Parts: sequence; structure tokens; C-alpha cells
Amino acid sequence: MGMNIPFNELRPQVRAIKPEIETAIRRVLERGWFILGQEGRDFEAEFSAYLSDAPLYTVGVASGTDALELALRALEIGPGDEVITVPHTATFTALGISATGAALRFVDIEPETYLLDPQQLEAAITPYTRAIIPVHLYGQAADMEAITAIAQKHRIDVIEDAAQAHGTRYRETRVGTLGRLAAFSFYPTKNLGAYGDGGAVTTRDADLAARLTKLRNGGMGAQRYHHDLPGVNSRLDEMQAAILRVKLPYLDVWNTRRRELAHHYTGQLGDLSTEGLQVPVECGWGDHVYHLYVVRVGENRRDALATYLKDRGIGTNIHYPVPVHRQAAYASLNLPEGSFPASERAAREVLSLPMYPELTAEQIDYICEQIRAFYGRRT
Ligand SMILES: *Cc1c(COP(=O)(O)O)cnc(C)c1O
Repeated sequence: MGMNIPFNELRPQVRAIKPEIETAIRRVLERGWFILGQEGRDFEAEFSAYLSDAPLYTVGVASGTDALELALRALEIGPGDEVITVPHTATFTALGISATGAALRFVDIEPETYLLDPQQLEAAITPYTRAIIPVHLYGQAADMEAITAIAQKHRIDVIEDAAQAHGTRYRETRVGTLGRLAAFSFYPTKNLGAYGDGGAVTTRDADLAARLTKLRNGGMGAQRYHHDLPGVNSRLDEMQAAILRVKLPYLDVWNTRRRELAHHYTGQLGDLSTEGLQVPVECGWGDHVYHLYVVRVGENRRDALATYLKDRGIGTNIHYPVPVHRQAAYASLNLPEGSFPASERAAREVLSLPMYPELTAEQIDYICEQIRAFYGRRT
């Protein structure tokens, strides 16, 4: 009995909330106001309230990449400055940094969790370092206490890349509230996704929020067509904001479902560690919202397993196959293979299995059955 399980499938969720989405879209159409209006302001307030009881500003922008760039520009980080991040992330993290003209510096990941290794952080800090961007990769918070302690010691800002971590908790606090600023993406496949591109910067600092509000809108202040700063055009449009407002109240329910599904996977795959397959490790400091369910496949068998699953109707993906410092786009950095061994090994070994709230336990049973069969194990 075969099954066809795509790596990702957005249609069931659209179907489930379609009447509410249609109402929201109709509201925007009838208002006839499409950029920087009521929906955007309401979404910003609602997202802030979702993340934190204490005052927090959300500034909607056009993408997660722009959110990173504008967060840095709000701090006046640019040419001559250095910004630290990890090589094992979406290359968009690094692109947001390089767009400012600042130089990229990398710190390798902790191999078990795929998160920035705080033990290697201090060695990467120079007198030019202005900010550290830890990535809450796959939906799990980086070690913010350790990172913040080092940053404070060196008077450097922490900017969270929370593009994969809407709703993730670090201890009792949601990520996106822990750094000086944070960047979110609302790319359609993210845990909170729009039906197009979108992003946001969050901060507790009113001055930074005011600066971001200008920067995203060409640098214009309250007086129209008067540009105080050389800003950019990066706005979250009203249609996307209205869609996100419909989806936000479901985020916790969807994240809980992702966690349940992840634990269902882990229950059936955990014993394959003897074969070289490692299930995700949950850090003790918070909730993992499983933007992705990523296993490590050792013994050079990752691509063989992916092909085996594909032949059995199961889609998988690799996040990410090339570490940032080995991307052709960053060849000028001259960082050879071997520079960041944990990130390079992750690129060779990680495999993302299907993970979306609408998956069923039966589908996961089928996927696990096939993975076990690949290793010659029975269920
Ligand atoms: C998706 C993502 C981004 C970029 O967000 P976009 O909205 O696609 O620009 C940045 N960092 C990480 C970790 C991401 O997953």
C-alpha cells in the first residue's frame, strides 16, 4: 500500500480557513487602501501582543531578508562594521547582512542542535564587531543567555533571526523579544506564513521602532514626500497583513500540532541512532516549534535515503545543502572547506522530513515504516 506524501502541502490549511481569509480579503478590497493602512497597524499590534505582555513594537516589512537588513540599518551598521552569524542557515540570513555593506563573520554551530555555539563566539569578536545574529534554526531557540552574556561583555547588539521561530519559547519568553531587535519572515511555508512575501522587525526600543518605520517607507517621516533618511521600499502590504491577522490566532494550535507530530516521528525513529540516524535534539531551555523536522543521516547515506523515500512517494528536502561560506555568491570571502566543520558536516548529513500541521499520524507511520525498511528494520 503506497502513499503520496509531498514534502510540503499548503492547500489543506488554506481550505480550512478559507471563509475567514475571503472575508479579510474582501474587507481590504472594499476599503480600497493597499499599502500602510489599518490592517498593517492592527497586525503589528496583534503580533506584538502575541509575543509579549510588555511593550514591544512590530514593524511590518516586505520580507525576512529585509527585516534583517533594516534591523542592522536601524543600528546604523554598515560598511566598516562586522556582523557575526552562523554558516548553517538560510543564505538569506547572510544576504541581509551583506546588503548593509557590513562584513560577515561566522561562528560554527553546535553539532547536536545546529545552533550557534556560544563557546566559539568570543574568538570571532573583533573591535569592528557590531552585532551577533543567532538563528533560531528549525524552530528552536539558540542559547540566548550565553550569547547575550558575551554580547554584553563586548557591548555588541544581538539581533535574533526568528524567521523559523514564530511562537518558540526560550524559558518562559517568546523569541523575538530577547535581542535588541529581531527579524521575522512570513514567507508562505513559515509557521506563520502569508500568501506572498512578508516580514517584520520587533524591538522594545521606541526610537529604533520609529527609525524602522521611516526606513521601510523610503525614509519618509510624518510629513509625506519629505525623506529624513535614505530608506528603502519594504512594506508589508494590507492584503498580507489581513491574511496574517486571520492566521495569527491559530499559530499556537498549529505549533502544538507540529510538536505532537515531531514527537510521533521521534518515537518511531529514535532507536535508529545505532544505524547512524539521529532524531532532533530538544534543548532544555524551551519549546521547539518544529518549523522543520530534521534528521541527521550519517554514514554517507543521506542522499540514498532521500531517493529511497522519493521512490516510495515521500518528499524530503535539505536545509541547507551548502553552508553560507561555501556558496558561490560568497566565493570572495575565501573561506575553504574545513573552515567550519560542524556546519559543513550538517550540510552533508541533514534531511528534512515532511512537517506541516495538516499531516496525519498515519502518514508519519508510513514515512517511519519506509525509513525503518531502508535500514532493514521492522516497525
Ligand atoms: C526564510 C528565512 C529568511 C528569509 O526570509 P524571507 O522572508 O524569505 O526573506 C531568513 N532567515 C531564515 C533563517 C529563514 O528561514
